[in-house]
Formats: sequence, C-alpha cells, structure tokens
Amino acid sequence: MIELENISFDHCLKCTVCTVYCPVAKATPLFPGPKQSGPDAERLRIKNPELVDDSLKYCSNCKRCETACPSDVRIADIIQAAKWTYWRRRTRPRDFLLAHTDLMGFWGTALAGLVNRAAGAGVVRYLLDIFVKIPKERPFPKYSTSTFKRWFRDHGPDPSVHPDQAVYFHGCYVNYQNPGLGRDVVDVLAALGVGVRITNEKCCGVPLIANGYLDRARKHARHNIEGLARAADQAGGPIVTASSTCAYALMYEYPGILRQDNRAIADRIQYLTRFLAPRLADRPDVLKTPVPLKVAYHAPCHLARMGGVVDTVEVLRRIPGLDPRLLHSECCGISGTYGFKKELYPIAQDVGADLKEKILAVKPDLVVTDCETCAWQIEFLTGLRVVHPVTLLAWSVRGGASSPV
Ligand code: SF4
Ligand code: SF4
Repeated sequence: MIELENISFDHCLKCTVCTVYCPVAKATPLFPGPKQSGPDAERLRIKNPELVDDSLKYCSNCKRCETACPSDVRIADIIQAAKWTYWRRRTRPRDFLLAHTDLMGFWGTALAGLVNRAAGAGVVRYLLDIFVKIPKERPFPKYSTSTFKRWFRDHGPDPSVHPDQAVYFHGCYVNYQNPGLGRDVVDVLAALGVGVRITNEKCCGVPLIANGYLDRARKHARHNIEGLARAADQAGGPIVTASSTCAYALMYEYPGILRQDNRAIADRIQYLTRFLAPRLADRPDVLKTPVPLKVAYHAPCHLARMGGVVDTVEVLRRIPGLDPRLLHSECCGISGTYGFKKELYPIAQDVGADLKEKILAVKPDLVVTDCETCAWQIEFLTGLRVVHPVTLLAWSVRGGASSPV
C-alpha cells in the first residue's frame, strides 16, 4: 500500500550518490545499498510485499544516505519501515534486551556490582555469544550504581534561582550509565544563567525502533511529547538534550517513522551545542580554565543529518587551550544496537576501521564525540578515552588546576 505521507521514493533521481556514502554497502556485498534497498525496491514491495528480502537487515539506519541525497529521499526511513512492515521478523530474546533500555537500566543500576562483574566474565560472555547471539568480543558499557534522576531529585540545583530555565532530556545513557555527564550539563547551563528542569522521561525510542518494537516506541513518543511540552511551558524555555541520537529521535523519528505529532515540542528542541554556541559567544568569561589537550572530534552521523556539527565545532573552538582536530566524516559502525548483534558485528567493525585509522593518525590526548554509542565504539576500536564536548566545557567552567586526563 502506498502511504501518502511518504512517497519520497518517487523523488529519486537514480544518481547513486547515496550508495557512494553508505558505509555498509562499502563493507559487505550482502547489502546492495540504499538506492536498491530503498526507493528501487519500495516500488516492488508496494506491488508485492512477498518481494521483500533479507538484505534489509544490514542497513544500520545511520542516515548517511539521507544526508548525501540531493533529492531529499527519506531512504533510511523507507528501509526501516519496510523492514518492520514486510519482513518476517523472528523475535529474539537478544533484540528484546537491547531494545528495552529502561528495563535493563533499572535492573542494571539496582544490581550494578553484580551486573558489571557478570558482563565482564569470560564464561558469561561465552554463553551470551552462543545462546543470545551477542558477540563475546564486544564490551558492555558499565552501569552506574545510582541514576541521574536520583541525583537530580536529591541534589539538583533549584532552577528558579537562574534568570532562564530549560528542560533537559537526559536520555538512558546519562540516567543509567553516566550520571556525571548529566551533572556536567547542569553545571555548564548554570554557569550561563540557565536553570534545569527534568521530566519523568522514557527512552527516546531509538533502540525500540531499531529492534522492531514500533508500537512501544510510539507509546514512549507520546509520553515524552506530553511531558516535555508541559515542562517547557512551565520553564518558559527550550528543551535541550546532549545526546545527538535522542535529539534526532525527538525531532525527526517521532513525526517520521513513528508518525507521531510532535508539533507541541518540535520548535522547542535544540541539541545542546546549538543552544550553547551563541551563549558562549556572549559569555566567553565562563570558560575560566584552559584545557590544554589535543582532541580528535568525531561528528556522529545523526548530528550531521541534523546539520549540528558546526555548533559543536564552534563550541570546542571556544575552550581556551584546547586543540580540536575535526576528523574526516566517517561512520563509527556501531549504530546503536547494531554492533551488539553477532551476525552484524563483523560489518560494524569493518565500517569503523577507517575511523580508527584517522583517529590514531592524529595521536590525540583523547577523543570527543556527541553520541554515547559512538563513544563506546571508539573506545573499543582505539583504546583511547572518549568524552562528550560538554564535559570539556565543564572542566573549563568549574576551574581548578587538576589535570582532566
Ligand atoms: S542519492 Fe537520492 S536521488 Fe540519488 S539515487 Fe540515492 S535516493 Fe535516489
Ligand atoms: S542508513 Fe546508513 S546503512 Fe542504511 S542505507 Fe543509509 S547509509 Fe546505508
């Protein structure tokens, strides 16, 4: 059936630029590429859904094809929609575990000591590899012993002491694995006179979409849209997030593949560095302490799709003493949960090989990126520490002589 909301496949000019930019098509002959799996095959699938083929599963939804397309064809959305509409999916326990980040995060933080030890144990990894199809080579990110939400409830500063307020969508990674990054966001915004409110948010839905749980992702979207709109009304300010993937989901996946009306929040969401760039230009004095490091900056694919790379680069250039090197645009390969799947893991590692080479050539003190899963992949590929841009800002804002590395 043709959905009138998405007939962008008909705008395809057959230029094949998308295929040139697809990192998966370059890494494996098993995937014919975005043009063939997207607009070309969609015409056949509309006529006969039986013509769907298994190669759809190789698309990582990195969106690089859409960024490159001169005709605004929603190629990745067409492939994702086809994957979960026509493809006969076998539900795996592995996909359930990877998709439900709030559930895993709740138990992961409640039992952090046990879970982190088990996740690093060779025998557990061997069993997960054999029976759950999560590759034993891929390290798991560690869970925190407490959540960001709990810290914010007990210790979060009163937002009303600041002249302005913003709603902060922190995302699952900050809540369950890196509350320190959330505290960095709160501190940097406070230095600029912006108080923070949070909501009872749910996962943005990206891992649910990636693993075929679209109905649950729609529920999360409706919950988040309602809660964020209400909080933004109370704050009288924007909604910010420091996760490029969460930002992309709130702005584009909700009205796109999930078909949810996000107009109540769409114009109020800003990726954090877009919000910070003009404010830091007005208040360079808040960046008190030099951060004398050479850093390699990797721009995540979803941030590039939103046109947000320029803001992060501008913010990095404002940090005194920092020597930021912008890497040539490459996909890191992990694409959220994609690189945690045994059958896709070798492709993810092949895709990331070029990025690894470019990072090591820079010989940086550390790597910077806006996306948590890119950070996991880069740490795994290179052995280097990876931090978020706002963490560098926080080091400079807080002052102090201690070395940040
Ligand atoms: S880049 Fe866009 S217009 Fe060109 S082949 Fe791909 S989908 Fe078609
Ligand atoms: S989303 Fe990424 S992997 Fe999928 S077709 Fe586009 S460029 Fe290729």
